[in-house]
Amino acid sequence: MEIIAEPDIYAPILANDGVFVDDKHINFNRLANGIRCPCNNRNHIHITASALKAHFNTAMHKRWLEQYNSNSHNSEAEATQLRSDLSDAKRLIAQKDIIIAQKDRHIRSLMDTIRLMSSANTDDTSENKSLTSDDLLDFD
Ligand SMILES: [Zn+2]
Repeated sequence: MEIIAEPDIYAPILANDGVFVDDKHINFNRLANGIRCPCNNRNHIHITASALKAHFNTAMHKRWLEQYNSNSHNSEAEATQLRSDLSDAKRLIAQKDIIIAQKDRHIRSLMDTIRLMSSANTDDTSENKSLTSDDLLDFD
């Protein structure tokens, strides 16, 4: 039985800014059967790094890379980024919820204090003083 060795299929790499760029550091010593770029339907196999780099500069390959960036491959990278952003946002919202709950409890406590002081004030009609923050702090 004859074993037919297939060339590797070329794929661009994802750069830090989320854009796919050409991989210019492919080690051809580890590619026994060369590499085939999917942009080329004629099954041309590149067997040297310089041949592949020359191919990267062709109009056909550049057009293909542009499409590669605008199709689902890029959407996948964007989806990953969005999932990460969503996770961060959920964590932030949870932290804010805790802070809001603490402030709610504090406001309720202050409102209770104000109500108690107001009822004490209406009993004492001779002094018509208004509440200040000092009053709230001194109140037991
Ligand atoms: Zn190509």
